[in-house]
Amino acid sequence: MKILVINCGSSSLKYQLYNMEDNSVLAKGLVERIGIEGSNLQHTATGKDKKVFEQPLKDHGEAIKLVMDKLTDKEVGVIADLKEIDGIGHRVLHGSKYFSCSVLVDQKVKDIIRSCFDLGPLHMPANLMGIEACEKLMPGKPNVAVFDTAFHQTMPPKAYMYALPYEYYEKYDIRRYGFHGTSHMFVTQRAIAMLGGKAEGTKIITCHLGNGSSIAAVKDGKVIDTSMGLTPLEGLVMGTRCGDIDPAIVPFIMNKEKLSPDEMDTIMNKKSGILGISGESSDFRDVEEKMNEGNEKAKIALEMFRYKVAKYIGEYYVALGGCDAVVFTAGIGENNSGHRAAICKYLECLGMKIDEEKNATRGREIDFAAPDSKMRAFIIPTNEELMIAEDTKKLLDK
Ligand code: AMP
Repeated sequence: MKILVINCGSSSLKYQLYNMEDNSVLAKGLVERIGIEGSNLQHTATGKDKKVFEQPLKDHGEAIKLVMDKLTDKEVGVIADLKEIDGIGHRVLHGSKYFSCSVLVDQKVKDIIRSCFDLGPLHMPANLMGIEACEKLMPGKPNVAVFDTAFHQTMPPKAYMYALPYEYYEKYDIRRYGFHGTSHMFVTQRAIAMLGGKAEGTKIITCHLGNGSSIAAVKDGKVIDTSMGLTPLEGLVMGTRCGDIDPAIVPFIMNKEKLSPDEMDTIMNKKSGILGISGESSDFRDVEEKMNEGNEKAKIALEMFRYKVAKYIGEYYVALGGCDAVVFTAGIGENNSGHRAAICKYLECLGMKIDEEKNATRGREIDFAAPDSKMRAFIIPTNEELMIAEDTKKLLDK
């Protein structure tokens, strides 16, 4: 069985074609600058060099058509005909309260996705455009929607409600949804396997630390709380997002600076986080370099990031009533031993002890806790695309 995984961002598109017999990737790539000058496709057939194709692409439909052409191309392709693809798995940002698992796409599913555009104005239209383009280019092939929010749908009301007038929940479904669900689910499954294989009785805190970051508290394999909220803005200090702030700051700055809601939204989503504090970069590697050169603001930015991650872990330790394992994943979680060590240092009061030598690694699955630690510390490389492919396969097998 061959499954194509599509992940449409606001102006980008990532894809991977899987052979589900052995979960191998046949080809993958990235389309950037969709709808902007300089559109290009970077395509890699496994075992061959990356090829870059530049051509104007006005929307995600045109981008997917180009991807299909390259997948079936005589020179750079990996299949002879699109008929070889059995199904397409789409990452969809927001499933609101409607989806607690992945679903086969039909008209009703598309209508619900459309009704949720407000909840992700940049991503949701792109996600739907991706689905519709695949329907048009491969008529009759099943499309599966895999929602970033779905894994978090097991949260109880005390975790997902905001203490605002209840009518806003009733009128607008304003509540915590959480994101990075596919990643949290993937690493949870691996962590459960590493803890012995039985979900029941496990208490796991999963830290997805990348450009966007979120944490989840997972009990018996089910999420009971998570740091992102109605949108991905809430929670940790991120690359460009502010995370938790006093909500009264929002009208205060808007009044002082005469900003519109959209302008304020852009400041909090695109100009804050470690970029906003350091004034240097949204990339954690750049900011670390600046810190090492003695840049005080870069140091404060990274200290804020580590401190906030540790505080959330403490909060979730209480929510779970203990913790068997803390999982580190995504760009920073998988690759940066310094941030991991600094975060775990805060956790010593909870019985965390790490093995510095084991922690001095990157991008591989490992338990780097010391033997006498009261909780395990796992690095688990995430694989959201494989998770989407597996979910798609499961639905096709049904
Ligand atoms: P992601 O969103 O998961 O792709 O993660 C992107 C973030 O991970 C960027 O801020 C990168 O700087 C960061 N990252 C990737 N590799 C490393 C590394 N070796 N050390 C520190 N940060 C890293």
